[in-house]
Amino acid sequence: MTTAQTLKESQLDPDRAALDLVVAAGEPWVGYISEGQVLRIVDLEGNQAVDTLFFSASDVRERYSASDTIRIQGNLYLTTGSMLRSSVGEAMLTIVADTCGRHDTLGGACSAESNTVRYGEHTRHMHSCRDNFLLAAAKSGFGLEKRDLTSNINFFMNVPVTEQGKLTFEDGISAGGKYVELRAEMDVICLISNCPQLNNPCNAYNPTPIRLLVWDP
Ligand SMILES: [Zn+2]
Repeated sequence: MTTAQTLKESQLDPDRAALDLVVAAGEPWVGYISEGQVLRIVDLEGNQAVDTLFFSASDVRERYSASDTIRIQGNLYLTTGSMLRSSVGEAMLTIVADTCGRHDTLGGACSAESNTVRYGEHTRHMHSCRDNFLLAAAKSGFGLEKRDLTSNINFFMNVPVTEQGKLTFEDGISAGGKYVELRAEMDVICLISNCPQLNNPCNAYNPTPIRLLVWDP
């Protein structure tokens, strides 16, 4: 089993951030991060999955690619030093600090469909990351829609791969106050779903708020 884990703290001062906000439990967020800006995502209370998509602001057909990122770095997990690659292999963002140690990009985003397959028909009405992404896409102002929702990152989510290659959703390895920080290598649009999932341990069965900070270069 691969257990890449590279802890690194940030020197950035929250008092000097250009943006500092809280995304409530289960809610979406969409924002524009310019090249050179640094985005920090803070897991305020711990064990909160933060489903995230990135698109190139200059051409939204170019977007975060899990397969290119994994192939180029030769590792299944994201942590300090990981460079997030686009669908044409370009550098989109670099993880410059990480106090959690490991983030998933295999488990995908929860949806009404996956909820009913995994947890039963009675969960169909439940709020999902796919709904959040659709809302954030509509609000982006960049013409993003359903077909643009491709493989995402799940910050703070623990999806270990077994020796047999199986994916398992495990209790989180994150804790209150842990954060991950990314420097944009191009202008990007960031879509976040602060995961509302209640049926598996990715949010410890209790979705909680996150804090987002952005610093100018
Ligand atoms: Zn979710």
